[in-house]
Amino acid sequence: IFGHRDFDKLVPLINGKKDFGVMTGMMPSGQMHIGHKMVIDQLKWYFEKGASLSLSIADMESYAARGISFEKAKEIAINEYLANYIALGLDLTADNVNVYLQSQNKTLNDLTFKIAKRVNFNNMQAIYGFNASTNIAHLYVPLVQVADILLPQTEEFGGPKQVVVPVGVDQDPHLRLTRDIAAKLNEEYGFLAPASTYHRFLTGLTGDKMSSSKPNTAIYLNETPKQAEKKVKSSKTGGRETLDEQKELGGRPDECVIYEMLVYHLVDDDKELEKIREECKNGELMCGHCKVHAAELMKDFFEDLKVKQEESVEIAESLFD
Ligand code: SF4
Repeated sequence: IFGHRDFDKLVPLINGKKDFGVMTGMMPSGQMHIGHKMVIDQLKWYFEKGASLSLSIADMESYAARGISFEKAKEIAINEYLANYIALGLDLTADNVNVYLQSQNKTLNDLTFKIAKRVNFNNMQAIYGFNASTNIAHLYVPLVQVADILLPQTEEFGGPKQVVVPVGVDQDPHLRLTRDIAAKLNEEYGFLAPASTYHRFLTGLTGDKMSSSKPNTAIYLNETPKQAEKKVKSSKTGGRETLDEQKELGGRPDECVIYEMLVYHLVDDDKELEKIREECKNGELMCGHCKVHAAELMKDFFEDLKVKQEESVEIAESLFD
């Protein structure tokens, strides 16, 4: 995390074990990859600190943006997203968790309509780049997402409270719009401006951005342990051209996909990470050895995940009973 808005308002609430919320959304369309785990890890942390969790399944967005039917979106959400959220350790069955489909949430849709009255086309054009040929559903969807962020503060969910939204920095304009609208609706609902944190994205295996639509950049969570291991072994490193050069100049962990994997997903112990980093920079650690170690850790991680995924689909289905 490299930036935030109003996170300082969260700190006393977290430390004082007071009521606060965390909100996130998922658009059920593609496949989940290892980069998505970074948000889930953050949600787990907030949850451990006592936050209530609001989790929107953006089926209205996937319909408007990708033409995916509500039925299909629900199926993808359960099997691909919720099952993985659970398998990665988030307890979505807890009392203080609200998982919902946008299309089926009346409070959300009523709120969206009220929000729509506070925004005009110029605002939407400036923030999202819409033009005269943008279809109206597409235009409306960001407002549903504004409502998603404000929903945990409605009476149904305990009234106004501080809510934090972990997002990528590209979402900041959307957060700013939401904060403006929260202020406009403050008199009627008492909404507080939502806080946000900005995380960086995991680098893709090739060194570019990790993307769901580019298989060579990502490790999908539905891949086998063997496939995951193989992908780690073929990842870009921060190593030098030759072994001699690496011994002399050292490696570049800050430009290394393998090191990033170790930091974000595979090694919890900071001392161990520091040791790898130092040995890399000193030229004591060679990429071949380092890759094999990371690939083994990834294989273990995926073996454990596979077991948990099997148990998780049923739990994910039960969320809509
Ligand atoms: S030794 Fe490891 S951390 Fe260093 S550049 Fe090579 S793969 Fe990356």
